[in-house]
Amino acid sequence: MSEDVVANWRSVCSEIARAATDCGRAAADVTLVAVSKTFDGDHIWPVIEAGQRVFGENRVQEAKAKWPDLRARTKTLGAGAIQLHLIGLLQSNKAREAVELFDVIETVDRPKIAEALAGEIARQGRHPRLYVQVNTGAEPQKAGILPEQADDFIASCRGLGLTIDGLMCIPPVEGLASPHFALLAQIAVRNRVPKLSMGMSADYPLAIQNGATHVRVGSAIFGHRDHG
Ligand SMILES: *Cc1c(COP(=O)(O)O)cnc(C)c1O
Repeated sequence: MSEDVVANWRSVCSEIARAATDCGRAAADVTLVAVSKTFDGDHIWPVIEAGQRVFGENRVQEAKAKWPDLRARTKTLGAGAIQLHLIGLLQSNKAREAVELFDVIETVDRPKIAEALAGEIARQGRHPRLYVQVNTGAEPQKAGILPEQADDFIASCRGLGLTIDGLMCIPPVEGLASPHFALLAQIAVRNRVPKLSMGMSADYPLAIQNGATHVRVGSAIFGHRDHG
């Protein structure tokens, strides 16, 4: 099982490198965020041992239960430290724990959460990197700021003293993803936001063609999830 996961991880890494070089980018320009939600520490550890350091989780409580141990074990390997990305909806009553635990929060998506994060960052003096989630397909069931409100929202985050390092999107399941990736890239350029988190197991090479700096890949590495 763990050999499969490590083999999967290796092929995703080489696909990323191939997709990047195919469009004239350096492989090192694209960071793999290995999405480990729903998988326990024993499942994740072989990938850490193999060299992966950047992981994504969608729930604060789940991450809090798994990652302190994995981080401590990773220190014994002596290489780089774990970088943990929050990629799921953040409730404002979890802002404190999110700022404590995560290195990147990819789901800044509404004024209330921006204010809660600004308060916690000031209080803790800890500065996770922040990405704004954009609902590129304007899907009612999906989180994220609407594309037409993104410029104002990014400006208001900056007004609160927050540094917005990236944008993130999850395109609709149906239809082509590339117009959504292109839209996110346009919003990033005109707002001078450097990072683009887009692309999942099904479409990360396409996202890389469209400028992704971070791809969030779960099932292609860890296998099928029953939930989450
Ligand atoms: C689960 C999840 C992923 C990974 O999806 P896969 O299709 O398993 O690669 C990426 N991004 C977000 C926001 C997720 O919730």
